[in-house]
Amino acid sequence: MELYMPTRIYNEKNCVKNHSQELAGLGSRALVVTGRRSSRMNGALSDVTEALEREHVSWTLWDGVEENPSVDTVMRARAKGLSEGADFVVGVGGGSPMDAAKAVALMMANPKQGEEMLYRKPSPGSVKPALPTACVPTTAGTGSEVTPYAILTRDVLPDIVLTTLPEETGGGQKAFPHLAQRTKQSISHRIFPSLALVDLSYLHTASRQGCVDTAVDTLAHLIESHLNTNSTDYSRIYSETGLRTWARVRDRLLRFEIGEEERRLLMNACTLGGMAITHTGTSLPHALSYPVTCEMGIPHGRAAGIFLPGFLQAYGDQEAVMRTLSLLEFGSSQTFGEYIQKLLGEVKIPDELWERDVDALLSNPGKLRNYPFQLDREKLMRLRQDW
Ligand code: NAP
Ligand code: ZN
Repeated sequence: MELYMPTRIYNEKNCVKNHSQELAGLGSRALVVTGRRSSRMNGALSDVTEALEREHVSWTLWDGVEENPSVDTVMRARAKGLSEGADFVVGVGGGSPMDAAKAVALMMANPKQGEEMLYRKPSPGSVKPALPTACVPTTAGTGSEVTPYAILTRDVLPDIVLTTLPEETGGGQKAFPHLAQRTKQSISHRIFPSLALVDLSYLHTASRQGCVDTAVDTLAHLIESHLNTNSTDYSRIYSETGLRTWARVRDRLLRFEIGEEERRLLMNACTLGGMAITHTGTSLPHALSYPVTCEMGIPHGRAAGIFLPGFLQAYGDQEAVMRTLSLLEFGSSQTFGEYIQKLLGEVKIPDELWERDVDALLSNPGKLRNYPFQLDREKLMRLRQDW
């Protein structure tokens, strides 16, 4: 077994202020990477900039990160960071700005490299380590503040658009770029933030849907990590504690009775979920969620959550499922499914998208590896449970 969890985490109220020296100690000029609005409204951005100023560290802002950030956004933020002479990066916001911040920190450390570096397997010595990065989460969902992952939206040319031409026309292969697909994928490099400053206060501006969608993302991380080929006694310390923590808020989440204690529980479960998937990766619900987000615009956590009931019902070891559900204080997959349905409301995935989604997953053995049992198309098709 191996455990590597190098991010220093402070989880407390006012932690950005309390640990301004450590934040400022990451460099001499910060590139602060955020989404468009929320970090101004919940106070996280002003806390970060005031902390930097108190320590006499200059900063510059890139506030153009969209939800499900694109490779293009990362490249534009890098240009800003390089032109301003930044030597470290602070990601402030939900998973989107935090993931973008990690990728920007990597690209800034490799200023001569093009965007293709993000998805190239690094060979030893070919890529300089990312600039130091700090993350300040303002959603309780992704756990990106402690994971080494950075998930970006990119255009890919799937194999099917590389068509073999007939011999009589000269043979060879031809690409059909108009069939390129927009998809989400984690970059090929692991980038742990040096510092995670986790303060539940920033959650107070979250809407019901924002809170539910992100809480379900955390739930998916915990379940998919717990029931995973790579789960170990070490990783289950995180996932078990996270599941028990999530259970304590589940009924109040349904009624959206979310006060400070519930925000504390959700934030803790989120960071634990991040530590769990750092060691195991995610599984089928996450793999199936990406096309649903890209093509239907369904937020990340919701898109993964809709597959959780089907995932548990189809899972090859039903005793393990029952043990997992008991950590969440559910007595059966059926009651869990009813709960998720009530929480998320109606979601319908069109047949054509669903078939493509399943086929894409089946053609990618890397994505199936975290599921410990044999899978076929028929089993996978049952993971969609429309309601
Ligand atoms: P997000 O995409 O970062 O943000 C969603 C929305 O919530 C945005 O409109 C954002 O506004 C707003 N928002 C953020 N904080 C808020 C607050 N405190 N109050 C009110 N609104 C707030 O959402 P997310 O679910 O946290 O992140 C999803 C992304 O993370 C996806 O791209 C997903 O693939 C990725 N992810 C990464 C990991 C990982 O390990 N790296 C794990 C899971 C998911 P602004 O745009 O104005 O800021
Ligand atoms: Zn997720």
